[in-house]
Amino acid sequence: MHPIVIVGSGLAGYTLLKEIRKRDTATPVTLVTADDGAFYSKPNLSNALAAGKTAAALAGAGADKMAADQNATVLTHTRVTAIDTAGQRIRTDHGELAYGKLVLALGADPIPHGLAGDGAGAVLAVNDLADYAAFRGAIDGRRRVTVLGGGLIGCEFANDLAHAGFAVDVVHLGGWPLERLLPVEAGQRLADSLAALGVNWHFGRIAKSVERAAEGYGVRLDNGETIATDVVLSAIGLRPRTQLAQAGGIAVRRGIQTNRLLETSAPNVYAMGDCAEVDGLNLPYVQPLMVQARSLAATLTGTSTPVAYPAMPVMVKTPAHPVAVLPPKLGASGGWKVECGDTGICALHVDDNGRLQGFALTGSETGRRNTLVKELAA
Ligand SMILES: Cc1cc2nc3c(=O)[nH]c(=O)nc-3n(C[C@H](O)[C@H](O)[C@H](O)COP(=O)(O)OP(=O)(O)OC[C@H]3O[C@@H](n4cnc5c(N)ncnc54)[C@H](O)[C@@H]3O)c2cc1C
Repeated sequence: MHPIVIVGSGLAGYTLLKEIRKRDTATPVTLVTADDGAFYSKPNLSNALAAGKTAAALAGAGADKMAADQNATVLTHTRVTAIDTAGQRIRTDHGELAYGKLVLALGADPIPHGLAGDGAGAVLAVNDLADYAAFRGAIDGRRRVTVLGGGLIGCEFANDLAHAGFAVDVVHLGGWPLERLLPVEAGQRLADSLAALGVNWHFGRIAKSVERAAEGYGVRLDNGETIATDVVLSAIGLRPRTQLAQAGGIAVRRGIQTNRLLETSAPNVYAMGDCAEVDGLNLPYVQPLMVQARSLAATLTGTSTPVAYPAMPVMVKTPAHPVAVLPPKLGASGGWKVECGDTGICALHVDDNGRLQGFALTGSETGRRNTLVKELAA
């Protein structure tokens, strides 16, 4: 019997493995991963300074322990290089493997920054534990960090670094942080709170080049301004890893396309987590992949179970001013109704019939999220 083969040892791959084992202890499962296979929770990377944790301390069980605990085979440092969907085999840099079912849990890649200059090669991005170890090495003994991008990950790193005493500049093309998720009042309140912590914002700007300087680097912006810095961290976004699937003839769009059963266009091939576009939606967060893992484990063990998402607010880990946001569906009618209090902002997205479609809460108002989630579910 050919095994279920899971590619990827991120939260998606390992959560699926655990969910399969809750239902079925016997079916052979092989997990193949390009990295060392240590279990870790990626969201912890952007608040590890405040938590007092090094990259090594963030690593949980190693691959051997995960394999033993879950009665699975875990092949580490093994990169899948091709998928033969007709022959139901994958090729890796360590040989070939046949599969009964194949699950792609490949994650996402940082978007290339495209910067010019002789310092561009030193720009870092943090998307896994190894990246984080390199980042911690780079900031060790340094004082100034420039973050490119004021989205969720950029804001979280800015908060963590500023709280730890670094001088932080954030370069952001939008007029306020998280502008695709938050109305201006909420974004501005977050920006003000981070500024009070020492974050220096550069809104409406993009970085063009990074040049080496006598000490550190100079980040040159599109308005000609130069930021003197020691380390540059790119947080301009991630894009689903689709190349492997595409080369194997599997349909991709933004992500690897699946239906609600997480089936791709190829028989017996599934996709989940950051790499997947499930019924038209790529949701690169933890809660969706947990829902996907439970559904797919049921499907793979004999009970066909489509993914059904509950209302899933995203929490932004900015302790200087926390944010909870559940954006309205694309193209939702109506608009934001914003109430600004001294300690937080409550923005409700209400449709033309007065029904709640989404929310953005900041500061003390984040405590209302569970009540609002119930209202949305109703
Ligand atoms: C700094 C940071 C903070 C975040 N904070 C939050 C948060 O607070 N809340 C939240 O909900 N979400 C957060 N997210 C997003 C969340 O962490 C991700 O949605 C989730 O971890 C994605 O898991 P994944 O398993 O899909 O991908 P990944 O963790 O990227 O795993 C992909 C795996 O695939 C393997 N792989 C890729 N290609 C191959 C190949 N060809 N062959 C073999 N193996 C391969 C990789 O080695 C890796 O093991 C954050 C993300 C970041 C970067």
